[in-house]
Amino acid sequence: MSDTAGPVLQAEGLVKTHYGESGPTQAVRGVDLHVKRGEFVAVTGPSGAGKSTLLHLLSGLQQPDSGSIHLDGQSTRTWREHRWAVERRKRIGIVFQFFNLVSNLSVADNVELPALLAGVSPRQARAGREELLAELGISGKDRNLPSELSGGEQQRVALARALINHPPLLLADEPAGSLDSKGTHEVMRLLSRFHQRGQTIVLVTHNARLASAADRVISFFDGRIADDAQLDTAPSRKKGTSAVLKLGD
Ligand code: ADP
Repeated sequence: MSDTAGPVLQAEGLVKTHYGESGPTQAVRGVDLHVKRGEFVAVTGPSGAGKSTLLHLLSGLQQPDSGSIHLDGQSTRTWREHRWAVERRKRIGIVFQFFNLVSNLSVADNVELPALLAGVSPRQARAGREELLAELGISGKDRNLPSELSGGEQQRVALARALINHPPLLLADEPAGSLDSKGTHEVMRLLSRFHQRGQTIVLVTHNARLASAADRVISFFDGRIADDAQLDTAPSRKKGTSAVLKLGD
């Protein structure tokens, strides 16, 4: 059983060095991060600060040199690649800048795949897909290939794929990074909407404007947390005013 009262994510002392052609780079230099259930946390900072590396560590796509990660109170210390892959299907939804959809699968199959892999029946997977795609405003494109959709639509499909198994944690790495301003606004509006319904989100972005949609903003600099600020959006959200209003349009 997961501990529903504790933090969804707890990282302590994370350190990660990359070994590239120009020698080693310590991308993450000792990061402690606790994310509570229902929080929308933006990690922002300049390019090269180590934000993506941090997200890769939190999702098990890369392993830290040292430090620990707990998900729902459970230590990930003994998890190897296969276990992380299973947990990414069930407990961690991820959206990336370039969508990472399977190009030769239809929209419907892209969204249903994680559910089927998690052991959900085909009927339930279809129902879940239909509900999510309708909610995300892209009904009627189920049989299309990803390449037949706009960037904004592809990112909405990627969001549906990330959320179909109802993961307690959604990680988003520059989800609007390859979109025009309309697509950016759509994606941010959808993230805020899911957050308002209780979805815990960690969003990595170099765009401070997007970060302001979150209720907590962590500034990342040179592999470390330089600032961790709570934004005062919660009261207005309770009154039904969306934090997206802060996006300036
Ligand atoms: P950000 O997401 O903030 O732009 P990254 O985590 O991508 O930062 O990168 C942090 C640092 O680590 C940069 O100096 C980058 O060049 C380096 N880096 C990231 N990934 C790799 C890699 N796979 N191999 C070598 N160096 C890397």
